[in-house]
Amino acid sequence: ESLINRIAAGEIIHRPASALKELVENCLDAGASTIRVTVKEGGLKLLQIQDNGCGIRKADLPILAERFTTSKISTFSDLSKIATYGFRGEALASMSHVARLSVITKTKSETCAWKAHYLDGVLVEGKTGQTAEPKPCAGNDGTTIIIEDLFYNTPTRLAALRSASEEHARILDVITKYAVHNPTVSFVCKKAGSAGPDLSIPTSSETAQTIRHVYGHSIAKDLLHAKFGPKNLDEDTDDVDMDADYSRPESWLAETHFTNPNYHSKKMVFLLFINHRLVESLRMKRALENVYSGILPKGSSPFIYLSLQINPRDVDVNVHPTKKEVHFLNEEEITDQIASQMQRALAAQSQ
Ligand code: ADP
Ligand code: MG
Repeated sequence: ESLINRIAAGEIIHRPASALKELVENCLDAGASTIRVTVKEGGLKLLQIQDNGCGIRKADLPILAERFTTSKISTFSDLSKIATYGFRGEALASMSHVARLSVITKTKSETCAWKAHYLDGVLVEGKTGQTAEPKPCAGNDGTTIIIEDLFYNTPTRLAALRSASEEHARILDVITKYAVHNPTVSFVCKKAGSAGPDLSIPTSSETAQTIRHVYGHSIAKDLLHAKFGPKNLDEDTDDVDMDADYSRPESWLAETHFTNPNYHSKKMVFLLFINHRLVESLRMKRALENVYSGILPKGSSPFIYLSLQINPRDVDVNVHPTKKEVHFLNEEEITDQIASQMQRALAAQSQ
């Protein structure tokens, strides 16, 4: 049974950055305004994430790493979100099968923090021992999740990964993208033992400002902003809301534009969030790339940040939410409409 759990967990947690993505979403769900990440060896030795969110009640700790327990843990005010896209109660459970998982947490009403270790879904004593109780400890309001020795028991997963530096870069990429989508939350990432952070993103009042901070001035100063809701769309796609920031023709993403040392590539930068989850859609990426293709100077690429709100009912539940490639109802129509709206805006610019 534990082998099956491990394999299932490996399907959800592919690499340190996919674990981090789940953990960041949990922090945001918990209402955090500050998220601090500490990484050792690309997250394989240590991936620690601290937030100042609502915390987890002591009474909920024993079942925290069981699968599908979300509905039993009710610190969230919006229980209607549960059982929709993004709330499946599998992330922490999976991590406890492929890593050593520890949690330190404190809600406002507790007088001290509580610490718990998990293995294979169960709260255990120390890091390997018997079933146990949470232990009191010092700590601030909020939650720290500690993932150690990721994939220690799944050597094939481990072997599939490249270097620690590649994994580290992917972690920074996830943090950067979530920071753009959540400008009022501050993010810090540091390597364990190093003096300063290698990424520090302060809060700002708007997405464009955060984009400027992480991707550089020359991109952000020329961003176009588009917003559309039900009334701009056809009847049959009336459940979609969109927010987009994308580059003007004169602010092409060239290598020199990057102030962030983690971005050297001249490839298109495409950030897609659907219902606040970072996802990928090849269809949409290609369609939007096409919008720019006629007017694209050599050696440069566009920057596009897109946030869609789609009725969770219309997002394909057969595609597991942790799989990055997403599908949704009227995907083709919605993609076409977004592409043509951008095309019109860009054409208006160049006149
Ligand atoms: P899901 O997010 O789908 O519910 P997870 O396994 O990611 O499943 O998390 C399980 C539960 O643990 C969450 O529903 C939440 O109640 C609690 N939790 C996890 N991380 C945090 C956090 N950082 N702050 C507060 N609660 C958390
Ligand atoms: Mg989660």
